Amino acid sequence: MALPPEAIVRLDLGRIWLPHLTMEIPVHGFLIKHPAGAGLVDTGYGTPLELIKDYRPVNASVAEALRQHDVHASDICWVINSHLHFDHCGQNAVFPQAPVYVQRREYERRHKYKDTPAAWLQYAGARFELLDGEREIASGVRVVTTPGHTAGHQSIQIDTTEGPAVMTGDACWTVGMFDGEPPRAGMMEDASTFARSLDKMRRIKPAAVHFCHDNRTWHR
Ligand SMILES: [Zn+2]
Repeated sequence: MALPPEAIVRLDLGRIWLPHLTMEIPVHGFLIKHPAGAGLVDTGYGTPLELIKDYRPVNASVAEALRQHDVHASDICWVINSHLHFDHCGQNAVFPQAPVYVQRREYERRHKYKDTPAAWLQYAGARFELLDGEREIASGVRVVTTPGHTAGHQSIQIDTTEGPAVMTGDACWTVGMFDGEPPRAGMMEDASTFARSLDKMRRIKPAAVHFCHDNRTWHR
């Protein structure tokens, strides 16, 4: 199934300051208006904001962001986390009815992410679906493994009527990086694996690329 490109809706989920990179970045999730039921890619950071105060978070509610698009949190049928850093899975608990798809390798390493509060992953009703590689989550919606930023990182590929659309997660941060600008140290756990994953996404020959940390969208 190919979705219309406008079925992918970017949600603005605040901003954070990255002390180790001395830069401020926007935080996005994506609502997928799928005819079989709405889905969500990444959930931003959670609350209380005090837990991540070093990152100077600006308040942002994923439920409110969804309401602006006439979608209620309880309408979300599935959630995909690209990875389990705090700014990608922080509001999973808003969707207790939805299975959360994450790579097993990522889930097993969650304790290594000291900045991800345990409570943001261990909430009442949490239902993680652990993946060992690539999988179609809904018709036309696939996860593709893109390690390097973290070992269990995954990106999302969606068939649209204009061609494939990719949601990179943190496997690529910006339009410029997708076009070849080198990533900075501190943006990845393993540089050569990160580079291979970036090439893998380019080989998909996407029509559009959507970023968690860039307000622009890349278009072919
Ligand atoms: Zn990350």
